[in-house]
Amino acid sequence: MRSQSQAPNVGDKVLKCSDCGAEFVHSAADQEFYRERGFSNEPKRCPTCRRARKASGSYGERRGGSSDSGGGFGGARQMYPATCASCGRETEVPFKPSGARPVYCRECFQRQRGSDRT
Ligand SMILES: [Zn+2]
Ligand SMILES: [Zn+2]
Repeated sequence: MRSQSQAPNVGDKVLKCSDCGAEFVHSAADQEFYRERGFSNEPKRCPTCRRARKASGSYGERRGGSSDSGGGFGGARQMYPATCASCGRETEVPFKPSGARPVYCRECFQRQRGSDRT
């Protein structure tokens, strides 16, 4: 039985770098390495470019930076018109007056809190 080939680098492949266009050898050992890692594709770039990309940090997949800005808070809050139960002035409150409780304007509210000591 003859071995299939006498060439020393039987599995080597010469590929062209997609970045700089230089030819580089994708050796049999490298192909093995790639297979072990689960890479189904051949390298697109020469080792030099690969290293450069890795160093620059842009290596790998880029993530889709879709930031959903819902908004809602941060702006003006929904205010409800109300009449102060203390001074009778019209005011606005950040909650819907139910009628069950007296609603006070800011001034009266603060005054009430200040004087309401127990
Ligand atoms: Zn290159
Ligand atoms: Zn008031």
